[in-house]
Amino acid sequence: MSGNCSENRAIVIGGGIAGLLTARVLADRFETVTIIERDRYPEESKSRSGVPQCHHVHSLLTKGHRILEQLFPGLTASLMEKGGFKFDWTADFAWLLSVNDVWTPRFPSEINTCICSRNLLEFTIRKHLGNFSGVEFLEDATVTELLTNSDRTAVEGVAVRVGRDRQMELSAQLVVDASGRNSDAPKWLETLGYETPQETKVNSFLGYSSRVYQLPELKARDWKLLYVMPSAPNKPRGGIIYALEDNSWMVTLVGLGKDYPPTEETGFLDFARSLRNEVIYQTIANARPISPIYPYRNSQNRLCHYEKLERMPEKFLVLGDAVCSLNPVYGQGMTLAASNALTLASCLERQEQSRGKGNFEGLSRRFQKEIAKVDRVFWSLSTSDDLRWPTTVGAQPDPITKLMQKYLDRVMKATVEHKSVYKALIEVMQMLKPPTSLFAPHILLKVLQHELKSTLTRKTIDDNFIHHVPKMGPTEP
Ligand SMILES: Cc1cc2nc3c(=O)[nH]c(=O)nc-3n(C[C@H](O)[C@H](O)[C@H](O)COP(=O)(O)OP(=O)(O)OC[C@H]3O[C@@H](n4cnc5c(N)ncnc54)[C@H](O)[C@@H]3O)c2cc1C
Repeated sequence: MSGNCSENRAIVIGGGIAGLLTARVLADRFETVTIIERDRYPEESKSRSGVPQCHHVHSLLTKGHRILEQLFPGLTASLMEKGGFKFDWTADFAWLLSVNDVWTPRFPSEINTCICSRNLLEFTIRKHLGNFSGVEFLEDATVTELLTNSDRTAVEGVAVRVGRDRQMELSAQLVVDASGRNSDAPKWLETLGYETPQETKVNSFLGYSSRVYQLPELKARDWKLLYVMPSAPNKPRGGIIYALEDNSWMVTLVGLGKDYPPTEETGFLDFARSLRNEVIYQTIANARPISPIYPYRNSQNRLCHYEKLERMPEKFLVLGDAVCSLNPVYGQGMTLAASNALTLASCLERQEQSRGKGNFEGLSRRFQKEIAKVDRVFWSLSTSDDLRWPTTVGAQPDPITKLMQKYLDRVMKATVEHKSVYKALIEVMQMLKPPTSLFAPHILLKVLQHELKSTLTRKTIDDNFIHHVPKMGPTEP
């Protein structure tokens, strides 16, 4: 590994999903892209300590899936070869909504993704990335500080600890920090005499406990992902069953407001039994667990405002969870990372057009402002739902958020009767359309019709309806 500054090199700090996607984009513009990763990557699609979230459900939104396929054509096929599933968000997803205890309708659509374990997804992306010339991995290596020019106005490389105690320095024309929620970038900036970014935090104190099971084959199970959603303000427990590539199933129990799901066998099952619906408990009660129960608690939404810094060293960028980490239950983080990577590609393109190749002056601040716009959309979707809980700290819902929450409840209620309303809701959740699309006249009309009808009939929900997951029906007319 050379430290030659004249080399056309970019460095990516952290080789998680955001780091790998960033490296893919940089590979189009740099001769060498070096990903520096603290862990040693496993040979197969196995877990590693740098990403403790790999033990929990990781579903990829359709928008994220499309970006991944755009960056790595053939990725879905590779995932499916290894046992990943093509997944249709309206057909294969059984979802017990938070309102009225209703299951959403099930019918085929083209709102697809691929589902598999996070381990397989990261492994496969890494293999595809390895096919790009100039991409190299420096593993078992921790970035410890940023190296700058003499007046500290521009980053020129990084100091790295390799293994336990070997130190080295590596120079680059551009350094991107993708080191996740616990990024040291604020500390590095402070050491260099820069301001640290302000942070906004919204914490619903959500906890996960997850375990992998082998489930008996069941013809009745025609879904691949099932979600019993918590229901604000007073039913903070939920659960997810998620198909994995090796005929196993991941079960994640969810508790908000510090109602954390236990991590020992009996407590885990009792918690599953206590959900609004017993389907998860019934599914796992006699199933064979094949993993320990893993907890996760560090789930707060945290936004670092790099875009507001008056000074930022040139040639240094921060993205992914290192800037915006979200409550995982909305499944947005990998899509945010993918969107950030695309923003980087377009910023680099514009930079080259306006300043010429190899000139990165002004890029840092421009980039942080651009991704702040992208991240804001993810942030508001994630936090507005967290703000339904009285136990959430960090912000209060403003009148618009409250209005949106109320309208969303009505949209959810209408999904039971109108497939088109459900499809519109799924398109928003999959980040294919903005939330404002739920106010399109044809959706609004159906939502109001449903509201009126249910007020007039005061129809109560049939108990069978709550306890039996609906089978998949025909395509939407
Ligand atoms: C419990 C949980 C469940 C989640 N579920 C979903 C989901 O269903 N869908 C979804 O889209 N997203 C989900 N996410 C979010 C998702 O995992 C992340 O948003 C996404 O993977 C992007 O993360 P990242 O690459 O920015 O950071 P990380 O995944 O944290 O990766 C950072 C990498 O940097 C390395 N590193 C850290 N410091 C250094 C250093 N100094 N030097 C070198 N390397 C370093 C780490 O070892 C790690 O490999 C979930 C997150 C959690 C916590």
